[in-house]
Amino acid sequence: MDNRSDLLDEQLLNDVGNIARVTSTDGKVASYIPELSRMSAELFSLSCQPVGAKMIEIGDVGQFFTMQSLSKIISLAFAIEKFGRENVFRHAGMEASADSFNSLMRIEMTSSKPSNPFMNAGAIAVCSLICKAYKSEALDRVTDFLRLLTGEYNGFDEKVFLSEKNSADRNRALAYFMKSMGLLHGDVEEILDLYFTLCSLRCTSGTLARTAAVIASGGRSAASGEKVIEKETVCTLLGLMSTCGLYNESGEFAVRVGLPGKSGVSGGIMAVVPGRMGIGVFSPALDAKGNSVAGIRALELLSEKLDLRGIGI
Ligand code: GLU
Repeated sequence: MDNRSDLLDEQLLNDVGNIARVTSTDGKVASYIPELSRMSAELFSLSCQPVGAKMIEIGDVGQFFTMQSLSKIISLAFAIEKFGRENVFRHAGMEASADSFNSLMRIEMTSSKPSNPFMNAGAIAVCSLICKAYKSEALDRVTDFLRLLTGEYNGFDEKVFLSEKNSADRNRALAYFMKSMGLLHGDVEEILDLYFTLCSLRCTSGTLARTAAVIASGGRSAASGEKVIEKETVCTLLGLMSTCGLYNESGEFAVRVGLPGKSGVSGGIMAVVPGRMGIGVFSPALDAKGNSVAGIRALELLSEKLDLRGIGI
């Protein structure tokens, strides 16, 4: 495979952005969390953090949005680092699922642990482990970890947090149901508060690129150059991102983009080019499966132009 990474510059990102951003009209900004619907569908930013080089980014680069499911990368990495892979995967599986991100069906049908830690049920189970170990310090521990990985912490969006907390009938149903099956331990509302707060963490596409670059570099922070996560954690994240990162659109993403990725319903996607770079893209309009339309298109174009398809999956 050619290494065309030297073609990466601002001009290339602008070309990709110009083609990709118009596709956002095919999508819809998420509204099931009412506060998310206030985001303009026209926003777009694309950031690339090459391993060992300077970030290159274009578009609405300073624009904050909330991490939503992108935070599941942070909570899962934190949990593997602190409790070990085996312990974490006692509470959530490692299998892709054809179900939507907030599906209840599988757990009820099989009475077993959630399919993987990127489904809402699996991420809530990971939050319960973190809550059990760190109690009232749980949130601070995870945000310290985010700072360690990316060199930044931008607080959380209280309006989005409250909006989700007050409209989370489905996640609440999932969590209480899991508790009734013995799959969740501790106070459900405390666990959900941690989950909603992590989903409300503020970030930019640059934050996503820096997070993805930690994984791309085998565990080093682009901000400090320090080794911040173990190879075991890196490989686990890559495996799950390749198979489950975009929920029931993971297969299509693997074919079209060909890189390990993770999305969130705020419209962000991060993608990893192992050994080369981390990529973050943001465009709030989503397709029917909850993934950013223009975000996927931008990653597809970038992957094509730099011949990245198939690296790491
Ligand atoms: N906070 C969102 C939820 O639980 C996250 C979903 C996502 O980003 O995919 O519904």
